Amino acid sequence: MAKVAGAALSQVYAIPQEKAERFAMEQISCLKRWTGREIATCESCGMPLARDEDAGTEADGSRSAIYCTYCYRDGGFTEPGLTREEAVGRYAPMMAENLGMPPAKAEEMVRQYLLTLPRWRE
Ligand SMILES: [Zn+2]
Repeated sequence: MAKVAGAALSQVYAIPQEKAERFAMEQISCLKRWTGREIATCESCGMPLARDEDAGTEADGSRSAIYCTYCYRDGGFTEPGLTREEAVGRYAPMMAENLGMPPAKAEEMVRQYLLTLPRWRE
């Protein structure tokens, strides 16, 4: 499955095959159920909330079930005014570097991905 997904990603976004497969593998492992629960991903940046300390915090100090610690603290977004395009500009270079893909393709991929996250949906 990771091989097929990797090949598709590699083709669409010009990611080297090997890196595309590894990335697909990571994505699939996030979807798996561990110890009977599905691991949630941050609804702002998509980071898996695998451990308690990955979760953001509510105003009362409790853990957020839907946002990570980088996006959400003390009951609010760490960058409340961030627009979707700014988020693309922020995440795409990291993506391009991690996956060895052209920056323009990384932007396209991140933009597409953010549209699937509740915070950025229109
Ligand atoms: Zn996040």
